[in-house]
Amino acid sequence: MKFSAEREFELLNRIGFVRTSGSREERKAAEILLDEIKSIGLDGELEAFKVDHYEIKKAKFEVLEPYHMEFTVNAYGMSGSTSQDGIEGEFEYVENAHMTNLINAKDKIVLINAGFNAKAYENMIKAGVKGFVSFSGTVIDDESKTDLEDRKLNERHLKHGKIPGFILRAKDAMEIIRNMPTKVRMTLEQVEGECDSHNVVACIKGSMYENEEIHFVAHYDSVPFSNGVYDNGAGSVIIMELLRYYYENPPKRTLKFIWFGSEERGLLGSKHYTTIHEEELKNVVLAVNVDMAGPILGYNRAFVTADKSLCNMVEYMSNEIGFPISVDQDVYSSDSTPYADKGIPAISFARFGANGGAPGHNRYDLIEHLSADNILKLTQFIHAFSERTINACVFPVPREIPQNMVDAVDKYLAKEKKR
Ligand SMILES: [Zn+2]
Repeated sequence: MKFSAEREFELLNRIGFVRTSGSREERKAAEILLDEIKSIGLDGELEAFKVDHYEIKKAKFEVLEPYHMEFTVNAYGMSGSTSQDGIEGEFEYVENAHMTNLINAKDKIVLINAGFNAKAYENMIKAGVKGFVSFSGTVIDDESKTDLEDRKLNERHLKHGKIPGFILRAKDAMEIIRNMPTKVRMTLEQVEGECDSHNVVACIKGSMYENEEIHFVAHYDSVPFSNGVYDNGAGSVIIMELLRYYYENPPKRTLKFIWFGSEERGLLGSKHYTTIHEEELKNVVLAVNVDMAGPILGYNRAFVTADKSLCNMVEYMSNEIGFPISVDQDVYSSDSTPYADKGIPAISFARFGANGGAPGHNRYDLIEHLSADNILKLTQFIHAFSERTINACVFPVPREIPQNMVDAVDKYLAKEKKR
């Protein structure tokens, strides 16, 4: 079988629509992947898992004193609702929400900088903040060409308490601080609940070492407003092409192909999978993740969350084949990390956009910035790598995570240090 750039691009076009965590469109993309697996000749499966679901019915932010003005906002999902009349409070700008920024913030509504994190949220709760407003984008954005970010609170925030939160445009945030209001009002109405997201799974049994498993994984969900072709329809079609190849060329070791849902909401699909399949994971010797690929202006990257020898292997292969790729032993913010957290060596492949070359996580993640040939070349390199691992006489990757990577994964997942 020959790998086909046209076939990859064709599938990428078919799944290139907004498909956020738990949405009807994410489910539709899962069905398309499932149909593709069937057309290859295999049976795929959908594994459902619960994710937070919210719908913002009303979000209104008003400056009340010393002047009156209303600003366009989006609300943080899962940040609750205010009473119908909203909440009013004195206003303060608290920058990065250090405790020193928050000395006078009790019962106030505060503006915090973008880059909002769980620690800042915890500090605001501790300081007795009533509600918060953050911002997205930049102060030079043209609002007709950009969308307000969509954000939600997760359990890392909510364990400290729940306060309503808004997202403004950076430009508006700057205007507000320039004219420093004294009193503001937040009115928020949202419905909160749960819905299903899905992982799509297909398996090819190994002909010689059935009990040694390699997982090929890629997330297929997107962020709001994004068609998610660069991130990560491209990775999704790459592992589909590899599935097609290994269906026709039976591997020595067992392969699982998993398209994860809800990665963009905090690696939820891969966290779910690695939690409920603990028994199966004992057999998994390597996870190969592909997240982001295809930019015309770009460069290839590999992140190895495993023994350093795996970095060397990929570097040697890069030289041998003549495929340029920079390799680092590091944690990648993607579905490889929950595997490494379970002690499974993980590698992620990507082709990133050069600076300014391929916008992501917004409405400009478009197929016109990608080239089918770049997707094909990365597919071929991952295939060459796979041949040397999946079909190796002795599996070459030590099944352990070195301490520096254990620490890095813990830090990434913000876990307590393991003793
Ligand atoms: Zn991604």
